[in-house]
Amino acid sequence: MKTEQFRQIKELLIRVEKSSPFYQEKFKGIQAADIKSPEDFTKLPFTTKADLRDAYPLGLMAVEESRIVRIHSSSGTTGQPVIIPYTKEDVQDWAKLFARCYQMAGITNRDRVQITPGYGLWTAGIGFQAGCELLGAMAVPMGPGNTEKQLKMMVDMQTTVLASTASYALLLAEQVMERGLQDKIALKRGIIGSERWGDKMRERISQALGIELFDIYGLTEIYGPGISIDCHCHNGLHYWDDYVYFEIVDPHTGNPIPEGEYGELVITTLRKQGAPLIRFRTHDISRFIPGTCLCGSPFPRHSRIIGRTDDMIKVKGVNMFPAYIDTLLHEIPGVSSEYTIVLDHEHGVDRFLLRFEVENGYNCEEVADAVGREFKAKIGIKIVTQAEPLGTLPRVEGKSKRVVDYRTR
Ligand code: ZN
Repeated sequence: MKTEQFRQIKELLIRVEKSSPFYQEKFKGIQAADIKSPEDFTKLPFTTKADLRDAYPLGLMAVEESRIVRIHSSSGTTGQPVIIPYTKEDVQDWAKLFARCYQMAGITNRDRVQITPGYGLWTAGIGFQAGCELLGAMAVPMGPGNTEKQLKMMVDMQTTVLASTASYALLLAEQVMERGLQDKIALKRGIIGSERWGDKMRERISQALGIELFDIYGLTEIYGPGISIDCHCHNGLHYWDDYVYFEIVDPHTGNPIPEGEYGELVITTLRKQGAPLIRFRTHDISRFIPGTCLCGSPFPRHSRIIGRTDDMIKVKGVNMFPAYIDTLLHEIPGVSSEYTIVLDHEHGVDRFLLRFEVENGYNCEEVADAVGREFKAKIGIKIVTQAEPLGTLPRVEGKSKRVVDYRTR
């Protein structure tokens, strides 16, 4: 932890002690003055998504309500959503961070940014827009869906940047190919956020659209997208450590893990006013990338998010991350980027069915055999493979759901 970060954390602890009912309750018995070193800080309890849900609707508010200018809400899959209140400073800070992301990706005020993530309660669309406007680029605020109109605007407006989820970018890329629009579009870069995506999918999107792709990361609880992005070296995402403090911990024990190893990302907001968060467990799996980046940026890096602590799948006693399956499939010739995993029980034994698409010009049966052999060799389990022609599996306009688990029913 940098000296400056510890100073910011001390200030934050004093601030929440005075004005956050949420942390007054959570840190009962702990005084801000007791936290004298970075080590003391790591002994503070984590803040969890469940804590945030319990604070619904406005329990996280840490300033006078007159200072709150906006709320956002995270898309909770179960039960109560989480409401995050923002002050004017928070909204401005988020736009600053987002503008930095665009700059990191080489975007300037000459660019036209087609924004396809959703607008509304959740943070995606509006974050892309505010950062774009602060940078001085031209926002084309499409929101999600309506592929016809997306393609028309992409051609007519000659948009140079596509902001999108990976699965929607893939859908658009395939449509551009199918309609032979490659020479009519002017896209140069894609800013892709909000879900995991493998190298194969990356290649397909990048080749079809002729663009350079950048991963952007963030979560509604911590501003929204825009707290980190990869640079043109594409070796990790730079994060803004003057606004957020990152820790990587063992998801089971909560202890810090050796630098460079994968674990759960835990985030503390250094400047947030409306709803500051201290040691928030993201459930995202990442690692720190040691050393300085070749791009020369002084901001530290973390790896792409390779999975969620809660979608780690355990089959026949073996732990695996979907990202590892991505990598494994990527190395097998003929396997396309689209796949679905279906898990169920058969006679009391786990059954792992992998449905995937095969590139044109390959024999489905041969590729299926190769995939089966690789799983046995690299992961050590026997799976059922189902190879399908390109374009068979459904494309979705939001987050891809790769794993369907029927075993818990
Ligand atoms: Zn870099």
